[in-house]
Amino acid sequence: MLKPGSTIGILGGGQLGRMLAISAASLGYRCIGYAPDSDIVADQVSNDFFANPWNHTAALAAFAAQCDAVTWEFENVPLGAVDAIPSERLFPPRRALEVAQDRLNEKRFVEELGGRTAPYLAVDSRTDIESAAQRIGTPGILKTRREGYDGKGQWRIGSKRDLEAIPAIDQPAIYEGLVRFAAEFSVILVRSREGEVRFWDSTRNEHKDGILDRSLWPAGEPIDSQVAAARELARKVADKLGYVGVLTLEFFATAEGPVFNEMAPRVHNSGHWTIEGAATSQFGNHIRAVAGLPLGDTRTVATSVEMTNLIGNDAESAQGLLGEPDTHLHLYGKKQAREGRKMGHMTRLVR
Ligand code: AMP
Repeated sequence: MLKPGSTIGILGGGQLGRMLAISAASLGYRCIGYAPDSDIVADQVSNDFFANPWNHTAALAAFAAQCDAVTWEFENVPLGAVDAIPSERLFPPRRALEVAQDRLNEKRFVEELGGRTAPYLAVDSRTDIESAAQRIGTPGILKTRREGYDGKGQWRIGSKRDLEAIPAIDQPAIYEGLVRFAAEFSVILVRSREGEVRFWDSTRNEHKDGILDRSLWPAGEPIDSQVAAARELARKVADKLGYVGVLTLEFFATAEGPVFNEMAPRVHNSGHWTIEGAATSQFGNHIRAVAGLPLGDTRTVATSVEMTNLIGNDAESAQGLLGEPDTHLHLYGKKQAREGRKMGHMTRLVR
C-alpha cells in the first residue's frame, strides 16, 4: 500500500491523466506526469510534469526515480519508454500495453480466450486489401493495426469501388467485416493487486463520426442481457494479463450476442459518468488499484445517467446548463477547440 504523500507517475498528459491526477490528489498522493510537449492538460493539476519525448532516456530515468508507482493514461506509450520503469512499480503490467497496441494481437488474444470478434484479416498491401474484401465481403472497415483511435486510421469500404479511394497504406492494417449491431456498450472493470475484480454498470454508448458522443444508463435491451457474457470475457482478459487497474472492453450487441470490438488498458471515456454516477469512480478505483489500496464500491448511485461529450465548440454553451438539477461539467483545460477534439464532458443524473 502506498503511504499518503507517495508519488504516482502517469505516462501521458491528456484529460484521462488529468482526471487520474485529481483522484490521486484526493487520496493524498503526489502526481508527476510524463508526455511529449503537445496537447498536455494534466500538468495543470499535477505536482510536476516532464514534457519530454518518449525516447529521452535521461528524462525517463529521472521521472522513474521519483515515482513510487507508475501507470499510463494513453495506450500508445512506446514500450521502450515503459521499459524505463521497473516492472514491480508499473501498473497495469507491460504485457497489457503490448497486447492492446496492436489490433491484430488484441483480436487474437481475445479470441484465444473465447471471445467473438468481427471477421478480420491482416493486410499489408493493396493486393491484400482486395483479397480480404473479396473473402470477408463488403461493407467493411480498413483499420491501421497501431495508433488508431476515435475513428482515426480507419476507412470504410462500402463496395469494391471504394478500394480505389483508399490512400496508400504504409503500415500494417486489418480489414474487418462491418458488424450489424443493435447497440454498442463497454465493460469497465477494476482489478486489484490481489486479483479482486469489480465491474461498473455498462452504459449504452452512442458514437458520432467514430467518436463517443453519449453514454446512457440504464442501457436497456439488448445490452442488459449481453453484459454477463461480456463481463465473463473481460474478467478472463484481466486475469490472463495479471492486470492491475481499470480495463475497458468495447462490444457490439448483436443478434448473436456480444461481439468484441477493442480493448483499452486504461480508464475510458465511456466511464466518465462514474465520477458522479457511481459510489467510486473509474479514476478513484484505478488509483486505488495502482496504490494497492482496497477497491471502492462500483455501484451506480442514480436511477439514470447521461454523459455527453463536449466536442469542438460545445464547451462554452455547456456552462449555461449548470443550473439544471444534478448536472456536472468537466472541462479539460484545452486551450484550442478543434473539430472532433474532446474539450470536456457533462453528466446528468436522476437519483
Ligand atoms: P474503433 O476505433 O475500432 O472503436 O471504432 C470506432 C467506431 O466505429 C466503433 O465504436 C463503431 O461505432 C464503429 N466500428 C468500428 N469497427 C466496426 C465494425 N467492424 N463494424 C461496425 N462498426 C464498427
